[in-house]
Amino acid sequence: MADCIFCKIVDGSIPSKKVYEDDKILAFYDLEPQAPVHVLVVPKQHICCANEINESNAEIVAYIFTKIPEITKKLGLDNGYRIVNNCGEDGCQSVKHLHFHILGGKKLNGAMC
Ligand code: AMP
Repeated sequence: MADCIFCKIVDGSIPSKKVYEDDKILAFYDLEPQAPVHVLVVPKQHICCANEINESNAEIVAYIFTKIPEITKKLGLDNGYRIVNNCGEDGCQSVKHLHFHILGGKKLNGAMC
């Protein structure tokens, strides 16, 4: 997607601080961290949001979740972490490319919203 920030991060035209990359996904540090460790994991293919996950693209979501333990181990999040996905207007999704926030590095607030 030509005007998608995360597609541009994936293709390297916008720089990012990478944590993990393979042919299907990229993990990089969030520009405005909300926790001592705040990393975003994105599929390289453009999927707008959680609402656009379907039987033909769900495999990449499962793949991301199989890689999260490896990514969080690399980040030193041995004591736990939170995975957040914001979807759509009410979910306050600001970048319309599916991504999972990994937050950790301290005992997080228990509030969900
Ligand atoms: P969301 O509000 O769930 O859509 O999350 C989007 C996240 O992307 C926010 O936490 C932003 O700080 C982060 N973000 C936006 N642009 C960049 C960028 N160029 N590099 C890293 N993180 C970014």
